[in-house]
Amino acid sequence: MQVVYSPTHLAHDITVETFMGLPVPANEVAERAEKIRAALEADGGFRFQGPTDHGEPPITAVHDPGLVRFLEVAWSEVRRQGLDRSFLSADTYPNRQMFEGMSPDAVTRLAREPKHAAGRAGYWGLDSAAPLVAGTYVAARAAVDVALTAVDLVLGGATAAYGLCRPPGHHAARSMYGGYCFFNNAAIAAEAIVRATGEGVAILDVDYHHGNGTQQIFWRRGDVRYVSIHAHPDRAYPYFLGRADEVGEGDGAGENLNLPLRAGATNEDYLAAVDRAMEAILEVPGAVIVVSLGFDTYGLDPIGDFALTTAVYHEVGQRAAAAGRRLVILQEGGYHRPSLGENARAWLRGADGRAFDPLPAVGFGESGAVAG
Ligand SMILES: [Zn+2]
Repeated sequence: MQVVYSPTHLAHDITVETFMGLPVPANEVAERAEKIRAALEADGGFRFQGPTDHGEPPITAVHDPGLVRFLEVAWSEVRRQGLDRSFLSADTYPNRQMFEGMSPDAVTRLAREPKHAAGRAGYWGLDSAAPLVAGTYVAARAAVDVALTAVDLVLGGATAAYGLCRPPGHHAARSMYGGYCFFNNAAIAAEAIVRATGEGVAILDVDYHHGNGTQQIFWRRGDVRYVSIHAHPDRAYPYFLGRADEVGEGDGAGENLNLPLRAGATNEDYLAAVDRAMEAILEVPGAVIVVSLGFDTYGLDPIGDFALTTAVYHEVGQRAAAAGRRLVILQEGGYHRPSLGENARAWLRGADGRAFDPLPAVGFGESGAVAG
């Protein structure tokens, strides 16, 4: 299988994030992607290549140009405004109740992008869990190019391609970043496939979290079906979306399928959900499935509460490939760094129709060398 990787992700150098107001060591760190890269290189069965530059149009096909401009200038604004911070996080968010009782016209007029960087981050951001640093924009742009290069490979005839995207993307909505995500790599990939082929696309999201951004972007679309298996939002980020009764509207009615799972979900629970998801995906005509691949479903993940093991990832990869469609597989979350490489290797070998032989020396060591 071809792997698309860019070292530009290292520019998004995150060490601290905030969780419920407290600074904590960051989860979405550069080491994650390097662990996966090292394991796939050691495997020997994956061919690596860099991304090609696809420019801005595929991004603004999905995202508000205002969001792109904000992310591009955010860090220079932090510096220009003399803010003494190692990362940008919002001070206030425009909570909808701030405008309660005002007419839609008044809200449109008043709820406009502020000047202060801490207000702008609130205007475009969902939460305080997506610290923005000097290299965030170039890394997020590179992640999009990684995803689009994987699309090129698959549209060029490859059965499957894996884009080692970092930062991840599925929480980013049309006009909003958040949850470690800046541009929605999977949504940009799906949109590019629809435009190139004129065919429908299904997205299978197997990250632990609901991909609220992907759901929002395609909510009214009849040509992109979003199917997500995730932790129930009653107990997990993004809290406000991800329930089973969110099914889409308009042309998109019935095209959104959420399969929220209980805490402690086992391999068996998970595979049953995968089978339901694949059934829904096979109803969609089209040759390509985009996979939002997360490993925060792993039993030892520090921010998840499922009980999955490495072996199940191999099985899920096999079941995704058994659909007989081509796969654009894009990395999302997964925060237990020692296991990330092995879990990715297991999933991708499954998708590749290859057996999985655990390599205990790779991926499980805490001391693995990290580039950059
Ligand atoms: Zn996640």
